[in-house]
Amino acid sequence: MSKSDYALQKLSLVNDRIVRACDKSDRERRSVTLIGASKKQTPALINDFIDAGLRDLGENYLQEAISKQAALEPDGRGSKVDWHFIGQIQSNKTKAIAQHFNWVHGVDRLKIARRLAAQHQRSEPINLLIQINPDSEESKGGVNIENVAEMADQIAQLAGAKLQGFMMIPKARQTFAEQCGVFATAKTLLEQTNQRYGLELAHLSMGMSGDLEAAIQEGSTMVRVGTDLFGARD
Ligand SMILES: *Cc1c(COP(=O)(O)O)cnc(C)c1O
Repeated sequence: MSKSDYALQKLSLVNDRIVRACDKSDRERRSVTLIGASKKQTPALINDFIDAGLRDLGENYLQEAISKQAALEPDGRGSKVDWHFIGQIQSNKTKAIAQHFNWVHGVDRLKIARRLAAQHQRSEPINLLIQINPDSEESKGGVNIENVAEMADQIAQLAGAKLQGFMMIPKARQTFAEQCGVFATAKTLLEQTNQRYGLELAHLSMGMSGDLEAAIQEGSTMVRVGTDLFGARD
């Protein structure tokens, strides 16, 4: 199988899973964006996926992402792509993140959001998602559930940024029902936040290789898929 056949086949398998999950919940396929979580994958492989039709890429590590973007740029493929920063954000890196990404998923402090909003240099506002930490895990970034709505209200007021919704990376769950349970928490929180502060947040970035079906059932609008799309990472 040639490398480009590999990309076409993998992309179509993940796309089929998304289609089936959407059908099951009476949702339209276009209500869910597939983000290729491409950390540790080579520019050559990523190019094959872009040629196969992948249009959104998520990267976790700034330096790695910048060198990949540079490697994709010469033949113009990089510019077809919407870039999502999905890693933990260090406040001294916000300027470079804002310059290289149009979506930032892991916002968990007002200070970070303020810096991103002020530092990007595009005419469009930078798109932000607040990361929820549903299991209150210290090792992960994210805001504990009880503090999310108020932070959303503050970030939504920043000029230069558009708060789009929430993102989460829950601990692995054993069953489909348990996966659905934690994703439903995010959906409820989004609705409550909108109601309480008069916002119109519409996006939930949740679901990865192992749980994208549950996430879509509970309202995910962006699934971040690495392993099942590109293959295992080193
Ligand atoms: C790596 C990563 C993913 C993709 O995980 P897979 O299980 O390989 O699909 C999604 N989201 C984030 C934030 C990641 O770091």
